[in-house]
Amino acid sequence: MLTDKDRIFRNIYGFHDVSLKGARTRGAWDHTKVLIDKGPDWIINEVKASGLRGRGGAGFPTGLKWSFMPSDKRKEDTGDKRPSYLVVNADESEPGSCKDREILRHDAHLLVEGALIASYAMRAHTCYVYVRGEYIREREALQRAIDEAYAAKLIGRDNVHGWDFDIFVHHGAGAYICGEETAMLESIEGKKGQPRLKPPFPANVGLWGCPTTINNVESIAVVPEILRRGSSWFSGLGKPNNTGTKLFQISGHVERPCVVEEEMGIPLRELLDKHCGGVRGGWDNLLAVIPGGSSVALVPAHECQDLTMDFDALSKVKSGLGTAAVIVMDKSTDIVKAIARISYFYKHESCGQCTPCREGTGWMWRVVDRMARGEAEKSEIDKLLDVTKQVEGHTICALGDAAAWPVQGLIRHFRDEIERRIDTYHASHREAAE
Ligand code: SF4
Repeated sequence: MLTDKDRIFRNIYGFHDVSLKGARTRGAWDHTKVLIDKGPDWIINEVKASGLRGRGGAGFPTGLKWSFMPSDKRKEDTGDKRPSYLVVNADESEPGSCKDREILRHDAHLLVEGALIASYAMRAHTCYVYVRGEYIREREALQRAIDEAYAAKLIGRDNVHGWDFDIFVHHGAGAYICGEETAMLESIEGKKGQPRLKPPFPANVGLWGCPTTINNVESIAVVPEILRRGSSWFSGLGKPNNTGTKLFQISGHVERPCVVEEEMGIPLRELLDKHCGGVRGGWDNLLAVIPGGSSVALVPAHECQDLTMDFDALSKVKSGLGTAAVIVMDKSTDIVKAIARISYFYKHESCGQCTPCREGTGWMWRVVDRMARGEAEKSEIDKLLDVTKQVEGHTICALGDAAAWPVQGLIRHFRDEIERRIDTYHASHREAAE
C-alpha cells in the first residue's frame, strides 16, 4: 500500500488550499528552475528512466513519446521553422474515468508546472489544455491556477524560469471522440472533431501542421515530482514495466466509491477492500469488474481473486488497465444489459467516418440489446463475435476497438448467460403459442 510520503497528489480530495500559496506548501513549483536548467535531454532521459507510461489509457512510454519531437538541432539541420506544441488531454470522457477532474479542481498547479517542464523539454512555447465540455467548474479552477502562475511570473513572457511559455485552455463541447488525440487537434483548430488518418503522426504533423505531443493530464502532472525526487524513486514503486503511482477511480457496487492514488500493481482485492470498504455484500457477491474504463473487456469474479492492477497483468487476462477506472459489478447486475448500454454509448459517440465503426457499433448494440431480452438465436452469438473482429483493428481510430472489446468480453465470459436467456425467451414463446 502506498505510504503518504510517496504520494504525488497531496490534495486530490480538495481538503487543503488549492491556491498557488497552498500548492507551494505542498511542494509545487519547488526548484522548477533548477530542473529546467538541467536541459531538455536530461528531462527526457529522466522521464524515460522513470518508466512512466501514459496515464490516458494506451500506456505508451511518456519519455519515448517526447523524444519523437524535433530537437533544436534537428530543426536547425532540416531548416524546420515550425513551432512545436504540447496539448494536454483533459477530455476525460471514458465512462468510469474521473481522476483528471480531481487534478484540475484540486491540484492544478502540478499540471501547470508539469506543462511548463514538458513543453520546455519538447521545445514548445505554447500548450493547450483541452478540457471536456461538461467540466465547467474544472475549467474555471484550472484557469484560476494558470492566472496565478502568470501573475507570479512562473509562466508567460520573461518568466522566472527563462523559457517563454503560454498556456491556453480550450473548452470542448462534450463529444467523446474529441478525446482521441487527432480529433482533439481538429477540434482545437476549429473543425469538426474527427480523428485523422495516421501517419503522419502528431509529433511530425500535429496542431496546425506543426510538431505536437498530446499527453494525458495525469501523465503531465506527475512529471515535476518525478524530476524532483528522481527517476529511481518513481521506478522503485510498482512493478517492472509498470512503475510508479497511479490514480485509481473505483465506481459501482462498492461500499465507498472513490478516487485514490496507489502503487501500480496493487492487487484489485486490496484496492477495493482498503479504499472502498469492499464489494457491496462481500467479495463473494462480486460478479465482474471492468478494470480500466468502459472500453476494456470485463474480468469475471473468478479471475479477480489474485488480479493485480497494472498494464501487463490486465492484458494477460485479455482486458486492460486503460485509465484505471474500475467499474465493480455485483451479482445484482444484469450483465448483458450493462454491456448493451456500453455498446449504445459507443454507437452514439462514433464520429461516422469509417464504415466498420459507423455501421458496426449500431449493429453490435442492436444485437446485444436483443440478447439482453433473449430475443435472439444462439447462432447469432458467434456471428456477433465475428462482427466484433471485423470492427476491431479496421477503423481509423480506437473507438472501433473500444466498442468491440466489451462485447468480446461478454461473450468470452458470459456466453452461458446469453444462451440461458435465449432458451428462456424461446421456451416462454413456445408455451404461449401452444
Ligand atoms: Fe470515427 Fe469510429 Fe472511425 Fe474513429 S473508428 S474515426 S470514431 S468512425
